[in-house]
Amino acid sequence: MIENSLLAAVPRDEYRRLLAALEPVGLTFGEVLYEPGEVIRHVYFPGTSLISLLTLADGHLALEVGLIGREGMVGIPLVLGHAVSPVRALVQGTGTALRMESAQFREEFLRSPPLQLELYRYIHTLMAQISQTAACNRFHVVEMRLARWLLMTHDRVKSDQFHMTHEFLSHMLGVRRVGVTKAAQALQRRGLISYSRGDISILDRVGLEAAACDCYEVVKDMHDGARAARATRRMRDSVAA
Ligand SMILES: [Zn+2]
Repeated sequence: MIENSLLAAVPRDEYRRLLAALEPVGLTFGEVLYEPGEVIRHVYFPGTSLISLLTLADGHLALEVGLIGREGMVGIPLVLGHAVSPVRALVQGTGTALRMESAQFREEFLRSPPLQLELYRYIHTLMAQISQTAACNRFHVVEMRLARWLLMTHDRVKSDQFHMTHEFLSHMLGVRRVGVTKAAQALQRRGLISYSRGDISILDRVGLEAAACDCYEVVKDMHDGARAARATRRMRDSVAA
């Protein structure tokens, strides 16, 4: 069972070759993988871990602009020929990942058209996620954004329970802690989540979808569309073969 769906979409013989260069690692909540302006040493294919991309303003204000889990890869600048990260990559969900040293990744990337194709598709959906997040942060209220963020996390960790402090959430959403508290209490009063000392449980997934802004569906439809296109292509290839 391949945990990372991007790797799972690469043909088996290609995957086996990649696997020789991939190292299993455990990532821990709060760990920083990249800082802005730093050289990227490894790329990461998350399994059960969850990585947040944060943009900094004034050197200390951090705001989440992207969320990467099992559907993607951390280290996209390397795909585009850049060795330096423009963002902070912060582990926000403890779990598994496979990592590859950057120089080796560049070699594998250049010689594997199937890997290139999967990464280009992923970059497209990640760009959609990042641009939708920019609009979301500007136009939508904290409660809707928190609901959206919880759904995005839920999709990736595949568990109804996860741990997240108020402080972390305030960085994710770019609001003060009191704003996070109010939004979490409102969702809790509606019976959608329970929230206690950073332990979050999703109680009503459908209700939470109704409470989130449309940004959630917009980005998810794009991910699902990419997945459907992949399945169609595979079916066509198998007919051709
Ligand atoms: Zn929104």
